[in-house]
Amino acid sequence: MLGSLRSIVQEVNTARDLTTALGIIVRRVRDVMNTKVCSVYLRDKQTGNYVLMATEGLNQDAVGQVHLAPGEGLVGNVATREEPINLEHAEAHPAFQYFPATGEERFSAFLGTPIIHHRNVLGVLVVQQTERRRFDEGEEAFLVTLSAQLAGVIAHAEATGALANMGQQRNEAKFTGLAASPGVAIGRAHIVAPPANLATVPFACTMDVEGELNLFHQALAAARDEIRDVGERLKNDLNKEERALFDAYISMLDDNSIAVEVCERIRQQLTASRAWAEVMLEHVRRFEAMSDSYFRERAADVRDLGARVLMHLRQQEQSLREYPDNTILIGEELTASVLADVPREKLAGLVSIKGSANSHVSIIARAMGVPAVMGAQELPWEQVDGVDLVVDGYRGELHINPSVELKRRYDAIVEEERELARNLDHLAKLPCETADGHRIRLWVNTGLMADVVRSLERGAEGVGLYRTEVPFLLRDRFPSEEEQREIYREQLQAFAPRPVTMRTLDIGGDKALSYFPIEETNPFLGWRGIRVTLDHPEIFLAQVRAMMKASLGLDNLRIMLPMISGVGELEAARKLVDRAYCELVDEGYAIQRPPLGIMIEVPSAVYQARELAKRVDFMSVGSNDLTQYLLAVDRNNSRVAGIYHSFHPAVLQALLQVVTAGHETSTKVGICGELAGDPGGALLLVAMGYDVLSMNATNLLRVKAALREVNKSDLDRLLQQVLKMESPEQIEAKLYEYLQDLGIGGLVQPQQAEASSNI
Ligand code: PEP
Ligand code: MG
Repeated sequence: MLGSLRSIVQEVNTARDLTTALGIIVRRVRDVMNTKVCSVYLRDKQTGNYVLMATEGLNQDAVGQVHLAPGEGLVGNVATREEPINLEHAEAHPAFQYFPATGEERFSAFLGTPIIHHRNVLGVLVVQQTERRRFDEGEEAFLVTLSAQLAGVIAHAEATGALANMGQQRNEAKFTGLAASPGVAIGRAHIVAPPANLATVPFACTMDVEGELNLFHQALAAARDEIRDVGERLKNDLNKEERALFDAYISMLDDNSIAVEVCERIRQQLTASRAWAEVMLEHVRRFEAMSDSYFRERAADVRDLGARVLMHLRQQEQSLREYPDNTILIGEELTASVLADVPREKLAGLVSIKGSANSHVSIIARAMGVPAVMGAQELPWEQVDGVDLVVDGYRGELHINPSVELKRRYDAIVEEERELARNLDHLAKLPCETADGHRIRLWVNTGLMADVVRSLERGAEGVGLYRTEVPFLLRDRFPSEEEQREIYREQLQAFAPRPVTMRTLDIGGDKALSYFPIEETNPFLGWRGIRVTLDHPEIFLAQVRAMMKASLGLDNLRIMLPMISGVGELEAARKLVDRAYCELVDEGYAIQRPPLGIMIEVPSAVYQARELAKRVDFMSVGSNDLTQYLLAVDRNNSRVAGIYHSFHPAVLQALLQVVTAGHETSTKVGICGELAGDPGGALLLVAMGYDVLSMNATNLLRVKAALREVNKSDLDRLLQQVLKMESPEQIEAKLYEYLQDLGIGGLVQPQQAEASSNI
């Protein structure tokens, strides 16, 4: 059964559209389960009814004609009960409804299972049998498993259908994801596909058929030369049969073989890379389906060959491609290095299929002030290259081919945003203190040089987190000590005499360096942050030496260690920092020993906060990771993004515990997670006694505006009320209400306000 399941899902995955996908499902399920009928009913989004969309066994004329409201008939009952119905004699059931068009009076046994995707019933999968018998447990389990697996595929195919014929008809379509970076971007999609993956080549048409044909022939020739070279180099290590394989591959890349099929599709105006990918995947599938195991194994070779040519094609395409004005980058999994390729003045927005608001690419997008939507799982991203779209980073929505009216509405929102920003501008020069005179340090998080200017313009008083991994992510090798010194010097100089807190390299988790791959099944619990650099003292030492050298004559450096989970790691890291400092002094550098601090982002560090605080000059809470680890919610996984909540009462208790422990030993405590940049969050943190709030430059003035409106004594009362609350939703709503009562509800971003007012 497992083999059948896998092969059905695989086959459905290759379908070009929803109708084909449903056709495959009903045909394959009927065969595998040996039933007389298999049908799929899907929910019509407009009417809410379940419509017969495909069948094997019922009259084909009934397709599209049978409609059942939720709760109506057996199918409607499966949908509302959200569980299978298994009947020996369907007609005897009180809910049974007869549709003459189907001819289903002939069938007695009925088994229907709901198709549920992200808690929504998409439809119902039904099998029927002529004789009176109950489907056995194995059959029921098979259908339930299959429905669960097909739900995602059907949702994706439905979404793709929404875009069908988009080129000609310019259909407007809306997709939802997660609000990852606030703001609205109106622009044009630019797809970033992984260079050598046949399965993810965007669907795109061309007007320049001759150009594409040339491109294709050049890529083929380049791949042939490459294979010939490899064959030549290995010739003494290969036997006759293996050498023959190389010849076979070269002849597959011949202009007269597979190439003929590809050229035909290019002449039908498909781009060379899409045409090549389609044809090669068809060949791969043909090999995979062969009964002879030798040929089945060749499928991998064909795929590899396909990827090789594709790489050449994409390299050539990329060198010819320009980023349009108002580029909206779209990719399956966008990374920081991809962002860096686009000239800043052209980049308007980001959309990623994977990831969440807490992924690092979202954090960078927020810091850059670029609206972003992550986790847009249903978007058929391969098909939207060059399409006009609106990215609504407040609500996590995408509008493909927006109408003039919709664009006008979004233009108005952009204008409102600008207005708010203009109104806040004057705050840049004013101190950050509450109405009753309580002073708070408002610092910024930086990573890119671009952050520096924006931060200074907004009146940042220091840097609470400089993410040193960002310049590492943007390179294709480790930067040398001298290269690092230059980068760090720029940061330190730009902010001097204000303090700059440089965090030592924090890679691992979702921050992978292309030149230092870390393959792990559970990366957020694996080799991350300080764990990596303690295992590689040469990397750590070069980095802290570069930081200290860069601080020469400025003395505004603070060094911060990420992901500390206990005293041992801190002591080991401190020894290395001391060693680097002594070496530099011996080498003649007249530098001051920088303050050393740690991040509190692992639950164990919360419980050991006192012991850690005694040993450091400062502590800073990384609430992004602390939330993920306290709630056991992967910050990068869009499926669980709805339960990632920094206002969770458990997180607030931990935050309070850390600041209390720090102050008991007179250690200054700050916070540099995203919570600090939330106006409501900032109110609570100030009430708790946090000394420094560090956030992205985009939020700085909003937070300052909120804090200048309130009295510290009132905040203390607010905190006491909030600490008694039991759910994050309740807390968020309370904070929103509080800001509204002060007349500054407008500082809260729209999607947050919407969520809060729904409670
Ligand atoms: C954090 O975890 O809160 C933090 C500031 O670090 P990062 O987001 O870079 O992991
Ligand atoms: Mg962190």
